[in-house]
Amino acid sequence: MDLVFATHNANKLKEVRLLLPKDIRLISLEDLGCHEDIPETESTLEANAQLKADYITERYGISCFADDTGLIIDALNGAPGVHSARFAGEERDSDKNMEKVLNELKNISTPTARFKTVIALNLNKERILFEGVIEGVITKEKYGTEGFGYDPIFIPKGYDQTFAQLPLEIKNQISHRGKALQKLIAYLVKH
Ligand code: IMP
Repeated sequence: MDLVFATHNANKLKEVRLLLPKDIRLISLEDLGCHEDIPETESTLEANAQLKADYITERYGISCFADDTGLIIDALNGAPGVHSARFAGEERDSDKNMEKVLNELKNISTPTARFKTVIALNLNKERILFEGVIEGVITKEKYGTEGFGYDPIFIPKGYDQTFAQLPLEIKNQISHRGKALQKLIAYLVKH
């Protein structure tokens, strides 16, 4: 089966390629020749994931899935949430986003947080959503160089290293995106 992953994020493609079974051929937006910025203008992760998947399905008439992820921090009333990419501004700079989070949490001793991913799958005429959540805490500074986004400041529950310190195989087993993807794969295997 050929399936497009509607993302321009090379790190996400790498994570997903490691998890998908060999009989699903993952097609990137580069492979499709799509270089446009896909809109993410909705106010929930669910609606944004669906918007991205629909954008590709409508233009290319092809089965595809898209994900949207948010970092939800309790002490910030759920922020940055659906605004995670642009928390510190339109340039979507991960270092600036992390600095803003660390600064806003500097008086909180152990800030609890979770990553949530929603995957929207458009398969033939069906549209299905899958969700994955990982609980954890935000660190006081950045640790590690692996991964991307907010990985250097997030320690998953039960571990003592950030996602940017843990090997990708571990992140993939326990992460928000890994969990949502495992549900997507279970669905694809049955259909
Ligand atoms: P989006 O899902 O690509 O829109 O990502 C929203 C924001 O969350 C961006 O700032 C990403 O860098 C960040 N993000 C998405 N997935 C991850 C992850 O697995 N780890 C850390 N940050 C992530």
